[in-house]
Amino acid sequence: MSAQRLRVAVLGATGSIGSNTLDVLARHPDRFELTAVSAFSRANELADVCLAHQPRWAVLPEPEAAQALQQRLRDQGCRTEVLAGAQALAQVAAATEVDAVMAAIVGAAGLPPCLAAARAGKRLMLANKEALVVGGAFFMRAVEEGGALLLPVDSEHSALFQCLPLDASTWSDTIDHIVLTASGGPFRTRDPQTLASVTPDEACAHPNWVMGRKISVDSATMMNKGLEVIEARWLFHLQPDQIRVLIHPQSIVHSMVVCRDQSVLAQLGTPDMRVPIAYALSYPERVVSGASRLDLLNTPSLSFEAPDGRRFPALQLAWAALRGPEGSTAVLNAANEVAVEAFLARRLSFTGIAQTVERVLNDVPPSAADVASVDDLLALDARARAAARRTVGG
Ligand code: NDP
Ligand code: MG
Repeated sequence: MSAQRLRVAVLGATGSIGSNTLDVLARHPDRFELTAVSAFSRANELADVCLAHQPRWAVLPEPEAAQALQQRLRDQGCRTEVLAGAQALAQVAAATEVDAVMAAIVGAAGLPPCLAAARAGKRLMLANKEALVVGGAFFMRAVEEGGALLLPVDSEHSALFQCLPLDASTWSDTIDHIVLTASGGPFRTRDPQTLASVTPDEACAHPNWVMGRKISVDSATMMNKGLEVIEARWLFHLQPDQIRVLIHPQSIVHSMVVCRDQSVLAQLGTPDMRVPIAYALSYPERVVSGASRLDLLNTPSLSFEAPDGRRFPALQLAWAALRGPEGSTAVLNAANEVAVEAFLARRLSFTGIAQTVERVLNDVPPSAADVASVDDLLALDARARAAARRTVGG
């Protein structure tokens, strides 16, 4: 074992980003070591990961499930230590034996381990955009105070990061605006009159990317792009009016920077999350990601269109939250998580998702006291969830 290997914790190892990360790690056993993994409901898949990679730690939410996994691993000669609970997630994220954390948990549940990794000064590879949307200024302060290296994994933000140096002070005066590209999801051309009756499986059938169900629904409503607008605001220290969105159905141009002199910087590639994952793992170097080569000669023409605000009202709500009082983005995220869950459980219509978020944004206006500390923010998150549950009747 080389002392130089980067010791990586993959939080959310059983998910789409998690398994893509394991794929990239496995291509470079000389550079990376898998030190910790976590899962939520898929204990069997986590067991397979532990048996294949023998990480030092594995984390599950419940003690009973953790004990059962521990026994199973021991019986098969695997020395992984199984821990339980949210506290254990934060503990491995901050452990001295961990150099880098892949934040690939879905939803605001990922915020506490992200903050722990930030405070401990880790290389923090952020897929879990909801954590930044909820944590906002607190998140960024924890990164700064902890001396963490915050690297985007979201493909659009990785694209921007690949066009811009890490130190914003070197380019902030040179930028006019950025353009986040969006595929437009599965309903880009569908008759808006029929959207109320679409099923969860239709909403999750993304044309270009294979992703977890929550982000797939977010892509269908374009709330995903709204969350990314908020994410970009924090990652790149931009004003809301410096962030624009264009639909680009081919998902080849992953985002663009428009400079003051009208020079446009863009990053292109096949739609494969292993590219931004590999870049976050190897930055400032580059390693083989496993993605196929972009063949421009056999690529359909690249096209761009403006998002239709009537078809995608969720996108507009994200802008409204970004311009509203601090804490509004946490309310938006909480309401969206509850509404998407209700839609996936067939308790809410697809169009009901944006309606629920709009109503909760109106009903739960944050005050300065709601954003005084992280605990206050989490209490605001809980209040917005309760309001959303009342709205969807669940
Ligand atoms: P998945 O649903 O595929 O995976 C989510 C992971 O988080 C799983 O390992 C899951 O465990 C775990 N998890 C779920 N709920 C909790 C919880 N309450 N506490 C702890 N762990 C939990 O999602 P994705 O991989 O698609 O997305 C992960 C994050 O990355 C999201 O924030 C998403 O927005 C972002 N992202 C994803 C992209 C993609 O291409 N998939 C692209 C850009 C960003 P289990 O499976 O065991 O239940
Ligand atoms: Mg994205």
